Amino acid sequence: MDRVAGLRNLLESSQFFKLVCGAGNENADEVNKLAFIYTLAGCNGFDVSASPEIVKACLDGIEAAMSFEQIYWSDKSQIPYITVSVGMPGDHHVRKAVITDNCIRCDLCIPSCPTNAITPSLLVKDDLCIGCGDCEAVCPPTASAIKYKHNEKELSNILPECIAEGAESIELHAGVPDNQTTIQEWKTVCDCLPDGMVSMCLDRYHLSNVQLIERIRQAKDVAGDRLIIQADGVPISGGKDNFNTTLQAVSIADVINKDLKLKDKRFRKLPVLISGGTNTYTGKLAKQCGVPFSGITIGTHARKLVKEKVDSIIVGKNSPELAVAINSAHNLISSNIS
Ligand code: SF4
Ligand code: SF4
Repeated sequence: MDRVAGLRNLLESSQFFKLVCGAGNENADEVNKLAFIYTLAGCNGFDVSASPEIVKACLDGIEAAMSFEQIYWSDKSQIPYITVSVGMPGDHHVRKAVITDNCIRCDLCIPSCPTNAITPSLLVKDDLCIGCGDCEAVCPPTASAIKYKHNEKELSNILPECIAEGAESIELHAGVPDNQTTIQEWKTVCDCLPDGMVSMCLDRYHLSNVQLIERIRQAKDVAGDRLIIQADGVPISGGKDNFNTTLQAVSIADVINKDLKLKDKRFRKLPVLISGGTNTYTGKLAKQCGVPFSGITIGTHARKLVKEKVDSIIVGKNSPELAVAINSAHNLISSNIS
């Protein structure tokens, strides 16, 4: 079976689990370790920043896991797929926080950051910031000191380099209102990978349900049956590991199912990944609510689970910390796509 057919197979059987290393995460060492841990835990997809160095770091982590002698949960016949993420200006996945001069130095943002991107001197480390907005949420309204800059990538240059390094799929984060520019960028994405699966990531922060469905229709007109939709709950970074946190992620998948897939037979087989605010309970909630899905994509929560062990793990070497991290990651995967 070729690689694209293999991916389709995983999607059709609802067995795709993708770890989001972070569209804005350019920490190669962390991505390398995450790919190693999560491949051994049975993960079959990774979502990384559109940077050739980061794709290489991810691929190296996957290869180290595939040649690892200790048996864990990985399916050696199924090499995980690497997706690179790019985004429209304004989409929260590809923005970087900036602390402006309005800051009153209350320090509330520092512990709120899930990736420790904010230094004690209140500078944001670009390579760690994932644009989640948690710092903005705690910043006092009297200061409103958090703004964002767009992590600009020249798509037609950077994407072929990422594909040459081993990326097999591209995702465009397109949760922005500007339809015309979005579809132009989408055409560029699709042209860069004419034979591969392409994913459009959408949420309902700027788009109504009607606009969401219309955006998907336009995306399919360009990509045909190569289209995957990643449906994001808002906020994307989630919160507590419970049903309520993941409600919005399941809800957007439900809208796509009821308003599009069940009504229009051209979309009946459209793969939908549930993402954004996903956690241990996402797959369970979707199943209890009768919401079909092709896979589950988890970022912040999945990275948090192994965060304490990551520093002490050496890629390619066994250790008690590695076993604990793999166990946590595997439990997360199996609770979603058992
Ligand atoms: S809280 Fe989120 S947006 Fe703010 S600096 Fe940290 S990662 Fe970036
Ligand atoms: S929460 Fe806002 S005001 Fe407080 S330190 Fe952070 S950026 Fe400054």
